[in-house]
Amino acid sequence: MKRVLVVDDEKGIRDLFRRVLETAGYKVKTAESGEQALEILEHDKFTLLLFDLNLPGIDGIELCKKARKILPISIIIAITGYASLFHLHDCRQAGFDDYFIKPVSIKTLLAEVELASKRIDRWLDREA
Ligand SMILES: [Mg+2]
Repeated sequence: MKRVLVVDDEKGIRDLFRRVLETAGYKVKTAESGEQALEILEHDKFTLLLFDLNLPGIDGIELCKKARKILPISIIIAITGYASLFHLHDCRQAGFDDYFIKPVSIKTLLAEVELASKRIDRWLDREA
């Protein structure tokens, strides 16, 4: 069972992602802040993590740096309202694997999540 953590301060996004990903067979947890996400990461592991960059408190970049240390192999994807080259650079440096610009289409979300699952399966095969 693939586990996904969705972190976004917008309830509409959390609910939408949960619905779409659960329908596709993923087990989903959501958090509305970076702080809440870090609490969840203390006891749960995830294959995929989707972080809004613009969060109150710890932002998505800081959250990614911390999450990357806890879960070095997981796929972590940034979700944001806008993108610039500067932003992309920061995201890569923080440890994000990929980057979505809002609004994220359901088709794009599912395609990326599927790709990320396959990718992580390859890593885990190699590790075993
Ligand atoms: Mg936000």
